[in-house]
Amino acid sequence: MAREEHQLLIGGDSVPALDGRTTDDLNPFTGEVHAVVAAASPADVTRAVDAAEKAAAEWAATTPSARRAILLKAADLLEARTPEVVALMAAEVGGVGGWAGFNVALAANVLREAAAAVTQPVGEVLTTETPGQLSLAVREPLGVVAAFAPWNAPVILSTRAVAAPIAAGNTVVLKPSEDAPIAAGLLIAGVLHEAGLPAGVLNVVTNAPADAAAVAEALITDPRVRAVNFTGSTEVGRIVGTLAAQHLKPAVLELGGKNSLLVLGDADLDHAVNAATFGAFHNAGQICMSTDRVLVDRSVAEEFTAKLAAKVGALPHGDPADPGTVIGPVINPRSAERVAALVADAVEKGARVRAGGGGGATVLDEVTPQMRIFQEEIFGPAVVVVPVDGDDEAVAIANDTEHGLTAGIITEDSRRGLSLARRIRTGIVHVGNQTVDDEPQAPFGGVKASGYGRFGGRWGVEAFSATRWVTVASE
Ligand code: NAD
Repeated sequence: MAREEHQLLIGGDSVPALDGRTTDDLNPFTGEVHAVVAAASPADVTRAVDAAEKAAAEWAATTPSARRAILLKAADLLEARTPEVVALMAAEVGGVGGWAGFNVALAANVLREAAAAVTQPVGEVLTTETPGQLSLAVREPLGVVAAFAPWNAPVILSTRAVAAPIAAGNTVVLKPSEDAPIAAGLLIAGVLHEAGLPAGVLNVVTNAPADAAAVAEALITDPRVRAVNFTGSTEVGRIVGTLAAQHLKPAVLELGGKNSLLVLGDADLDHAVNAATFGAFHNAGQICMSTDRVLVDRSVAEEFTAKLAAKVGALPHGDPADPGTVIGPVINPRSAERVAALVADAVEKGARVRAGGGGGATVLDEVTPQMRIFQEEIFGPAVVVVPVDGDDEAVAIANDTEHGLTAGIITEDSRRGLSLARRIRTGIVHVGNQTVDDEPQAPFGGVKASGYGRFGGRWGVEAFSATRWVTVASE
């Protein structure tokens, strides 16, 4: 396949980096160069913020109907590009067709949800202690927003990073992951521009891996940038959050997870096995909401684990471009080595391999808290099964992690499920369902080391708005 070449997107124009550098975008399945993209330096970041700042006042003044029309048209254009996105995600991130299709469908709905937010009221009339005074709470745009999108659900998460900020009247500079500069950045920018987004409202800076820290720092610390959103690892989230705090900028941080699926003693085991398989292995386990631990009541643990191992052992692995493939490659060799090391550490310390073990989809049991895989986010195709003695132990283990993103509880008793759900410290919990779910109208985000702030619905719009108090005296 011919290599594509891509530039930075600044002020509506595709431009090379000021110093002319480029970086390779690799295909995770073949290891070959899929595309060559411009490699920004901090000076390019300044140019992008210049463009965003220049566009800010005019964009903030556009009519709601104009803004809504662009977002709705972009949703339709993105859906029309589904076959192109399927090919792109296979080549750029090793995503299988179903995952790419889901990315497009959800991202389109993220745009539609943002479009719906545009025509909502932007304030309230307050009571006042001053006779005759009009007292208002008014929501206004912040200005320029810095956005960071990861590679793993690239279309959804880049769209999420820009849609609510733009809907709220801000302009954006987006920095996609080096592992997905197109699918997590240039793609959604192209779609929005085709839909009529004015030049400078959304700018994209792609970079070489070695420049990530310098480019990110230039973006976050630019005095014209008023807010930050970052979706990525907890490790980098700490750096981004620290920089934002030092410069007194609000940040939405959507970070890693260590998510548990609880399978209670009364569970329908076939449903539980399906929930665990989807939760742990969808997109080869590379979703922030992926199930890392299945906490299963000891009374049904062996039956459940045997069924899970049989199902997972039969999942077809291979070329993501092949429609029969369920499990594609992990994103890069570094990630493959990291997951293999987690499995090897567990096996060395006594874990039992129930499925896989050699790089493919892996199910382990007989794990202990001393094993790294018990504590660290896996972010790859592996899961551990832990038998528990009753609901209290399940809740205790689910909460025994620095993370707090999602959880799922499989039970036939919704009341019991709800009472457990209220004791689990995560931003998201699903009773009767698996851990991986996302709807653009719902508040999405974690607690503890999984981050703070929320995307989705009115919460996402408020995160990228300033609420001002405005009064008008009677005379
Ligand atoms: P990552 O944190 O490794 O990379 C994210 C971005 O950080 C990249 O664009 C990179 O350029 C940048 N970066 C690297 N070093 C930096 C530095 N020193 N300073 C500033 N920026 C720097 O994450 P990833 O591998 O792209 O994504 C995987 C992680 O994201 C997983 O932990 C996953 O759980 C998490 N994630 C969370 C959510 C959520 O909504 N909570 C969604 C998807 C992924």
